Amino acid sequence: SDLPALDARITVCRACNRLVAWREEVARTGRRASFAHEPYWGRPVASVGTTDARIYVVGLAPAANGANRTGRMFTGDRSGDWLWAAFYRAGLATSPTSTAAGDGQRLIGARMGAAVRCAPPANKPTTGERTTCAPWLAREIALMPEVKVLLALGGIGWGAALRVAREAGWTLPRPQPRFGHGATAELTRPDGRPVTLLGSYHPSQQNTFTGRLTEAMLDEVLETAKRLAEA
Ligand code: SF4
Repeated sequence: SDLPALDARITVCRACNRLVAWREEVARTGRRASFAHEPYWGRPVASVGTTDARIYVVGLAPAANGANRTGRMFTGDRSGDWLWAAFYRAGLATSPTSTAAGDGQRLIGARMGAAVRCAPPANKPTTGERTTCAPWLAREIALMPEVKVLLALGGIGWGAALRVAREAGWTLPRPQPRFGHGATAELTRPDGRPVTLLGSYHPSQQNTFTGRLTEAMLDEVLETAKRLAEA
């Protein structure tokens, strides 16, 4: 697979001035006190998971003190803790927690990536930054012919997945499908193979603290993803 080569290229990308400055500044001087003595990754974060995954998670972006610290997607913050625990409950990960490379955690038939690979200030990438980063995701999905489900976390993940599909020449439903928790849209690759876009609320603390997203709701979406992936 060419995915490891792509990952290597992603992790040295410096295309977005604002994000390069932010990810490095946090790594150098903006560390959270509890992590003050840890080395920070401070670079773009490559995807994690198997190369023949059928389920591909499209997240938003690394968190400044989360994946920007650990270097592993969705690892080192509360959102990630939620997601990994749910993947474990669904039988899609070997352990309920993800802490750092070398912890033995493995995804099973799944891969996790993001719309933007560098931590943005206030977790908000600009439209321009999303546009600049989109080709990385497009190249990755193009190298993954087995993907049957794009699991989009939040509206930004949903939008990024649709953009990738459009730019790759996939057939999309019209009008453009709207994001929702549990929403689905049928996409078709140029060779005719179907891919289902599946939406889930992002497991951000904003959603999990308020009960907008419960564990049961996330479990249900993952069961749907598994069913679609096996179809
Ligand atoms: Fe490169 Fe994406 Fe990071 Fe921008 S956000 S610097 S395009 S990896």
